[in-house]
Amino acid sequence: MKVGIDAGGTLIKVAYADGGATHFAKYPIAEIGQVAEWINGLQNCEVCLTGGKSGVLVSMLEKSVQEMVEFEATHLGVQVLLERMGRTDEAYLVTNVGTGTSIHCVQDNAQERLGGTGIGGGTLIGLSHLLTGITSFDEIVEHAKRGSRERIDLKVKHIYEGKEPPISGELTASNFGQDLFSISHELSKEELLATVIGLVGETVSTVSVHAARQCRSSTIVYIGSSFIDNVLLKEVVTSYTILRGSTPLFPDNGEYSGAVGALSVL
Ligand code: ATP
Ligand code: MG
Repeated sequence: MKVGIDAGGTLIKVAYADGGATHFAKYPIAEIGQVAEWINGLQNCEVCLTGGKSGVLVSMLEKSVQEMVEFEATHLGVQVLLERMGRTDEAYLVTNVGTGTSIHCVQDNAQERLGGTGIGGGTLIGLSHLLTGITSFDEIVEHAKRGSRERIDLKVKHIYEGKEPPISGELTASNFGQDLFSISHELSKEELLATVIGLVGETVSTVSVHAARQCRSSTIVYIGSSFIDNVLLKEVVTSYTILRGSTPLFPDNGEYSGAVGALSVL
């Protein structure tokens, strides 16, 4: 069996294959000990690790494994996943919305990190928890789906009252920027969570679209576990990316890019 593992700040992603199809699994980082035990118990296996917590995982293993740099693994993995979707793009950006967000340009068969932002999946969970007390990612996403940002986000048209704005009035002028002092007690979980997702989605797509100016392509491949079953985040990112003139793409199993890349070198 061949096993590729991306141990990130929040989740451990595993891609494994025994000749045939690739299988996927993910575990919270708190279960790193169980993942190590699973690997230690495997016979006749080759393992390649990547991600910020791979050093911790290596220290728990009783067998020797390969390691690779996270950005290279992600680049290779995205290539494999795009090919599986029948795509042959030679140049694109990759925006990995993990715990934090990292943006890369892929062209001429090499990746270059263009930048990133601390606004990412960690922000999504952290701010959501502070505002509502909820701890489960699935629950946050479920509530957010039913929420409206109307009363919380300030749009350009709200500032340009009675006057034609120089840019689309529908753009967000200020996330959480409405006069909230008088209504803070009556805002629902759904409204607050939808607005947190709006903040994260608009930030990662805006930063990505700006970064696209340094890359030959304007196709932005969005990956990372923040998008798992997260319809609202995908919607916000899709519409903002298109509005700013780029093309968004969400590969199937994109959250496993690093793990698939690690698996691909074995
Ligand atoms: P990094 O790459 O920044 O080191 P990571 O690889 O662990 O972190 P991802 O797994 O891509 O990051 O994404 C983590 C984010 O995915 C979380 O911050 C959260 O928003 C979201 N998420 C999705 N499913 C879960 C889950 N079951 N538990 C916790 N977070 C989840
Ligand atoms: Mg990661």
